[in-house]
Amino acid sequence: MAMKMKQKVALLIKAFVRDYRSVRYPRIRWEEPLVAFARAQDPLFRQLKELVSPTHALPTDFLPDAQTVITFFLPFQEAVNLENLEGKASAASWAVAYLETNRLIVDLSSYLAKKLQETNYQAAQLPPTHNFDQNKLVSDWSHKHVAYIAGLGKFGLHQMLITEKGCSGRLGSIITNLEIEPSPRPEGEFCLYKQNRSCAQCVRQCVSGALQLDSYNRHSCYERLLQNAAQYASLGFADVCGKCASNVPCAFTNPCRP
Ligand code: SF4
Ligand code: SF4
Repeated sequence: MAMKMKQKVALLIKAFVRDYRSVRYPRIRWEEPLVAFARAQDPLFRQLKELVSPTHALPTDFLPDAQTVITFFLPFQEAVNLENLEGKASAASWAVAYLETNRLIVDLSSYLAKKLQETNYQAAQLPPTHNFDQNKLVSDWSHKHVAYIAGLGKFGLHQMLITEKGCSGRLGSIITNLEIEPSPRPEGEFCLYKQNRSCAQCVRQCVSGALQLDSYNRHSCYERLLQNAAQYASLGFADVCGKCASNVPCAFTNPCRP
C-alpha cells in the first residue's frame, strides 16, 4: 500500500508539471520533476532548529498528525540556465523562471492537497519562498533542508541542494497525514569540491564575493538578489541571481555520480 501511494503521488506530480503549460501558459518549461518522501518524525527535522534556526518548524507544527513530507525538485530546461550565464545581472528569463516556478509550486501543492483530501487525508501547503526572517535571512521552513532529509540530494559548495538532475530549478514540499514509505538518503557527495576539491566554479562565478571557498555571506548575496529584484520589478518580486549555478558542473546533473 505504502509503495503504491509513493508511486501514485510521484506520478501525480510528474503529470501535473507535464500538463501545466496548457493550464497557465507559462513562458518557461520544466524537465520531469524528482520526488522524494521523508518521515515526518525523522529526527533530522528537530536538528534543523540548531542547523538552520531555533524557529525552524517541525512538520507537526503545520499538521498535528503529520506522517510524511513530500518534496519535489522542478528542474528548469537547460536553456534558461545557460541564458543566465552572461553579465552581472540575472537574465530576464531567469527571473521569469523563478516567478513562474513559484506559481507552479503553489498550484501543484494545492492540487496535491485536493487529491489527498479526496482520499480522506489532510495536507498542509507551504509557500514556495519568502517565509524567512528578513534580518537573519533564514527560513522557518527551508525547502532545501527538508529535501535533503527526504534524500533528494546533497548540499554543494554554493549552498544549494544538488539533486540527480542538478541544482538548476526549484524545490517545494507539502506535509500530509498519509503514511508513505520514506526515500533512502543517498551516499557520498554530489559536489566535486566536497568530493575531491576538483571544482570551485561556483565561487569563481559569484558576482558579489558572497561565496568563498570557506564562507558564505548571505547578506551580501541577498543584496545582489535585491538589485535584480529592482531591475525586474515590472515582472513581480524576483529576488534572484543564480550566477553560481549557471552552467556549472552540477547545474543539470550530479557530477559525482560514477
Ligand atoms: S560548481 Fe562545482 S564546487 Fe560549486 S557546488 Fe557545483 S560541483 Fe560543487
Ligand atoms: S546567488 Fe549570486 S551573489 Fe549569491 S552566491 Fe550565487 S552568484 Fe553569489
